[in-house]
Amino acid sequence: MSSAIQYITILGSTGSIGVNTLRVIAEHPQRYRIFALTANTSADVLFTQCVQFTPQYAVLADEQAAEALGRKLKAAGVSTEVLHGVDALALVASAAEVDTVMAAIVGGAGLPPTLAAAKSGKKVLLANKEALVMAGDLFLEIAAENHAKILPIDSEHNAIFQCLPVNSQARFDHCPKAGFSKIVLTASGGPFLDTPLADLMQVTPQQACKHPNWKMGQKISVDSATLVNKALELIEASYLFATPSRDIDIVIHPQSIVHSMVYFTDGSVLAQLGNPDMRTPIAYGLAWPERISSGVSQLDLTALGRLDFLPPDTSRFPGLELGRTVAESRGTAPVIFNAANEIAVAAFLTGQAGFTQIPVIIDAVLQKLGSGTIDCLEHVMETDKLARRVAIECLH
Ligand code: NAD
Ligand code: MG
Repeated sequence: MSSAIQYITILGSTGSIGVNTLRVIAEHPQRYRIFALTANTSADVLFTQCVQFTPQYAVLADEQAAEALGRKLKAAGVSTEVLHGVDALALVASAAEVDTVMAAIVGGAGLPPTLAAAKSGKKVLLANKEALVMAGDLFLEIAAENHAKILPIDSEHNAIFQCLPVNSQARFDHCPKAGFSKIVLTASGGPFLDTPLADLMQVTPQQACKHPNWKMGQKISVDSATLVNKALELIEASYLFATPSRDIDIVIHPQSIVHSMVYFTDGSVLAQLGNPDMRTPIAYGLAWPERISSGVSQLDLTALGRLDFLPPDTSRFPGLELGRTVAESRGTAPVIFNAANEIAVAAFLTGQAGFTQIPVIIDAVLQKLGSGTIDCLEHVMETDKLARRVAIECLH
């Protein structure tokens, strides 16, 4: 075991990934200490986490909420300093004391602090797939230039990473293909895999967020129900593993036990299996290249009895094909795709749009804005802003 204690910042510590990260860390107090915890608005959960993990810093989006948290922590005798705002997120992601940053903010809001972590050469545990979908190769180039290590936490990408030969893992800033011929991303198919198509128009946010295998935040749960999540993952995999989207297949695997596979040129196929629990990829990312216990129960294959694999039904999930086209175009298209999806999902969750409108809105924004090349991060941010504006117009 490496002897030095690792200092960790968790961006989005109150969310599903954040909480699971803290659960793994709590099992290994001799290895990890928390440097900073951050949340958008969940001050009460952040307070409890600060009492348990006594980080140096806690960050909230809102100034008044941060002041209130600071007073509460002081009264409880906890010395954590409370900051607020976007710049504070970047600060705690790039501080010299920090070894590892868990990027677990949901959506494009996670991009600036995740980039700050990459720019300062941290080990970045990347759950926030939207950041990579938006900034793509620019993000990976910044990471490589600054010797940041990007370890994928998304279970599929973590599985692929685990299946790669160790020498190509070690150089994993832009992974060479290392003898693999294709990647297969597995997808559970979400809660509406067998729902009659005519009923999809009426499904509620509550139904959409009830994922059969994973307990996740609301946005990714809706993405999993539309399979836009798999489209985002296709783009994510194409950037991370420097692989064209035509060499990435998607297979429906309702049990979520095989987390993804790599096909090699000699006919071998390597897969990573495990119970569907994000503590496994989180523990892998935290300890890489070592392994630590995650608290996840052992897989019992005989209890499962069978594993099923089916081709995806693209008429049921039009977002998937849209994502494939976008992954092929790269440039501005993934930025537009992601931004339009974020607006459409937020509208669905607040009752302003129906479930089946989500891919329709994404398609409309893509059509309206066309696709182009991206040359700098400012261009990414401008494209993101524009696509959000156009998506909002499409709602009315
Ligand atoms: P979540 O909604 O449960 O948590 C999101 C976290 O981000 C919270 O701590 C929230 O306070 C914070 N946050 C939200 N908006 C913010 C903003 N504008 N500024 C600062 N902080 C903000 O989400 P989650 O399910 O934990 O997912 C987090 C990320 O990980 C997403 O990108 C998701 O796609 C990815 N991911 C999640 C899972 C999973 O099992 N939950 C699996 C794979 C990938
Ligand atoms: Mg995933």
